[in-house]
Amino acid sequence: MMQKILIATKNPGKAREFKHLLGASYEVLTLLDIHFPHEIVEDGVTFEENAKIKALAIARNFDGLVLADDSGLEVTALQGAPGVYSARYAGEPRDDLKNSQKLLHEMREQQERSARFRCTLVLASGEEILGVFEGDCCGRILHEAVGDHGFGYDSLFWADGAEEPFGRLSLDEKNKFSHRAKAMAKLSDYLRR
Ligand code: IMP
Repeated sequence: MMQKILIATKNPGKAREFKHLLGASYEVLTLLDIHFPHEIVEDGVTFEENAKIKALAIARNFDGLVLADDSGLEVTALQGAPGVYSARYAGEPRDDLKNSQKLLHEMREQQERSARFRCTLVLASGEEILGVFEGDCCGRILHEAVGDHGFGYDSLFWADGAEEPFGRLSLDEKNKFSHRAKAMAKLSDYLRR
C-alpha cells in the first residue's frame, strides 16, 4: 500500500505543485482533502518557525507523515519584504492579485529589482520534527504582470536562467528553477534513505 503524506496547505496552487512533485510515490493529501478543525496561528518571524508551527500542529492530530511548507518572496529593494508576510502583503483575506498590485506599486520607482523566492519544508510525525529542507530561487521583479500560469507572485517574477517569466512557464519548466522544487529534491533524498 502507498504511504500517505499530508501536506499542510489549503493553497490550491501549492497543493498542485506538491502532488506533481510527490504524486508517483505517495498518496498525497492536503488540508483541502481532510477536515482539520483547528485554526493554526502562524506567528513565527522566519519561514522555518512558521513551517514548524504548521507541521507540529497537524502532525499531533494525524496518523502519518506531515509536510509543511512556508514560503515567500524577499525583495532586495524592500529590505526583504514581503518575506514571511507574502501571503497577506495587502492584508486579510489573502488575495494574490491585490498582493501583486501592492508589490508593483511599492516597486514603481525602483531600478534595483532583484528578489528571491524562499521555501522551507518541515517534515514531522507525531511530536517529532524529522527534517528541515530549504530551497531558494533568485531572479527579478518585472515592471508589469506577464502570463497567467502559477499562483501568488508568479506573474511578476523572472528567475535567473529561465527563458520566460514564471507566469508563462509550465509546472515542469518552473520546477527546474523553483525554490519549492529545490527544497523538495532535498526532501526526496531524505525519504529515499
Ligand atoms: P504561505 O507559505 O502559505 O504563508 O504563503 C506563501 C506566499 O508566498 C504565497 O501565498 C505566495 O504569495 C508567495 N509564494 C510562495 N511560493 C510562491 C511561488 O512559487 N510562486 C508565487 N508566489 C509564491
